[in-house]
Amino acid sequence: MVIVLKPKCNPESIEILSQEIRKMGVRVEKVVGSDYTILGLLGDTSGINTERIAIHPIVHRIMQVEEPYKRANKLFHPEPTRVHIGDRIIGGDQVALIAGPCSVESEEQIVSLARAVKKMGAGFLRGGAFKPRSSPYSFQGLGFKGLELLKTARAETGLPIVSEILSEDMVERFNEDVDIIQVGTRNMQNFMLLRELGRANKPVLLKRGIAATLEEWLMSAEYILAEGNPNVILCERGIRTFERYTRNTLDLSAIPSIKHMSHLPVIVDPSHATGIAWMVAPMARAAVAAGADGVMIEVHDNPDKALSDGQQAMKTQELERLIGDLQTIAAILGRSM
Ligand code: PEP
Ligand code: MN
Repeated sequence: MVIVLKPKCNPESIEILSQEIRKMGVRVEKVVGSDYTILGLLGDTSGINTERIAIHPIVHRIMQVEEPYKRANKLFHPEPTRVHIGDRIIGGDQVALIAGPCSVESEEQIVSLARAVKKMGAGFLRGGAFKPRSSPYSFQGLGFKGLELLKTARAETGLPIVSEILSEDMVERFNEDVDIIQVGTRNMQNFMLLRELGRANKPVLLKRGIAATLEEWLMSAEYILAEGNPNVILCERGIRTFERYTRNTLDLSAIPSIKHMSHLPVIVDPSHATGIAWMVAPMARAAVAAGADGVMIEVHDNPDKALSDGQQAMKTQELERLIGDLQTIAAILGRSM
């Protein structure tokens, strides 16, 4: 349930009303917007006496929230969330570019790619240190050594680093080492991990589960938000359909849908969505045109030799051309990149 207060009511009367509602057995969360202040009621609202609240002089209106996600709901938080990472922002008017290899392979590889993508204007460096591969016999990543190499690349370029976490026991280390903690598609419903990340103080990039509905995805974000971490960035990376030509099916309609349902920023990963290097550019352009707050793209200096996902990696020169297009599309939409 959401209570929208009349404009310009004083803080004391808001506090008195909040106290009164708390006595009805729910938690009250206050959101101060530019025009309205909103009280979000969390917990079992079935015992709430709405008539008593409605006659309160500072109450403008009461809305029942049917969706099970509360903190991720746009009703609770009408302004779009802007996630700050140092001096960079994901969400709002900015369109972010996260680029880098699927896996961190060596110091030389990650540092040279970091320099190349930085020069082109990427805002963030990605790189998997722990790789959740479908086969236990495939390259599993360099592990913590990979994280160290990412930190070296960050020190060389100043680019914030994004890397995927696999389990709850890694949260402390990731919280210290990386700038954005990525939760992969396979872990979208690892609720223990999500809860633990809710207690971390780094932003979380939450990828959509391979067969997750939008509501399930937002409920996973809710796990993180409910523990107190407000910095969740959603990432659409394609879903499993009957189509086998592409690795997954990029659900571009997820972008306007999420924007309608939630205040959280949503970015797109066209690399895992398509699995085909030449298809990444058109899908990245489509994602920005559809209103995505950013794109995450896999690049490699030598895709044929990549230890994972070489078939979908763009070469750095190709990425440079794409960035020009994305900037043009962003500008048409009144955004900057
Ligand atoms: C990745 O980003 O490298 C990755 C494994 O992505 P996903 O979880 O979307 O498959
Ligand atoms: Mn990959």
